[in-house]
Amino acid sequence: MKIKVNEQLIGLTPYQPGKPIEDVKRELGLDKITKLASNENPFGSSEKAKEAIRNSLDELALYPDGYARNMREKVAQFIGVDENQLIFGNGSDELIAILCTALLSPAKNTVMANPSFSQYSHNATLQGAEIRMVENINGEHDLDGMLKAIDENTAIVWVCNPNNPTGTYISEEKIVNFIKNVPEHILIVMDEAYNEYSVAEDYPNTLSYLKDYPNMIILRTFSKAYGLAALRVGYGVGDPELITALDPARGPFNTSRIAHAAIVAAVDDQEFIQTCVKANREGLEQFYQFCKENRLDYFPSQANFILIDFNRSGQEVFDYLLRKGFIVRSGTALGYPTSVRITVGSKEQNEEIIQALTEML
Ligand code: PMP
Repeated sequence: MKIKVNEQLIGLTPYQPGKPIEDVKRELGLDKITKLASNENPFGSSEKAKEAIRNSLDELALYPDGYARNMREKVAQFIGVDENQLIFGNGSDELIAILCTALLSPAKNTVMANPSFSQYSHNATLQGAEIRMVENINGEHDLDGMLKAIDENTAIVWVCNPNNPTGTYISEEKIVNFIKNVPEHILIVMDEAYNEYSVAEDYPNTLSYLKDYPNMIILRTFSKAYGLAALRVGYGVGDPELITALDPARGPFNTSRIAHAAIVAAVDDQEFIQTCVKANREGLEQFYQFCKENRLDYFPSQANFILIDFNRSGQEVFDYLLRKGFIVRSGTALGYPTSVRITVGSKEQNEEIIQALTEML
């Protein structure tokens, strides 16, 4: 190719989440595939959200409201913040990219836990920033190590709570102690993609810290507990000045009209969320039981997935499960080479994968 792309792109691979179901069906000639790879909601999404989508089908010719007023009002009211504290993205993925575009450059560095969500380093690499990875301890962020890695050229520090891929969470006490010690010139990104699933009593209510810490942004998404991953909507909550400064970095119509309609309805259907969160806890118990019976190590999870250590190549377990019709994530690609990450499915799906795994052991 004669075209020369920017140097930072060379060697970067596109994000590869779980294999698509259709590809696996074709490759393996299997009829039934269960995908427990991308932490999607096994119960789908709220019926009210689907109804709202159907009702918005006559408006497909129209651009969405770039300010997302309806959705903004609804989300602001639901989480108890001002409307000017919100920025919406085409998934929180886009918000991660926006933050990197807005704050990172080759002169800057960014501090993150490792392993954690891959898009932080991916987007930081695109900006040419120096990446400072701080190894997890027991699957948890080493917050002291992260503080030590910070200096005057640090622009962003990433906290993933609960963490992907471990599912572990950081308690209120630890978070408060951490954010107190992050200098004001550094943006703390609190990625709470799985917050709805977190039932720990000391899971931090970070929204309440925003007034004291204008150098923090909280990222959330409708892709997980809300089961609306197809719509691609995430949001950031922060200080109005920061939100205003970030806004030009986003596409003018980055969230769709259909998504706005669905999300307004989905937020109103908290019963659906509660049912899913409860089922998720029960599902996690199925996996804990399996791990205990088979003496397998795992991280207790506050999310909708579990990272299990099989004491053998995670890729091997992944391949075995694929042949049995289950798509999961191999820990090999996630920084835990002897583990696999399994999304908690429905009770039946969990039983089926546990059965397959029991046959493997
Ligand atoms: N953050 C974390 C920790 C995630 O696991 C994910 C989804 N894999 C995202 C952000 C991005 O989610 P989305 O773009 O669908 O909002």
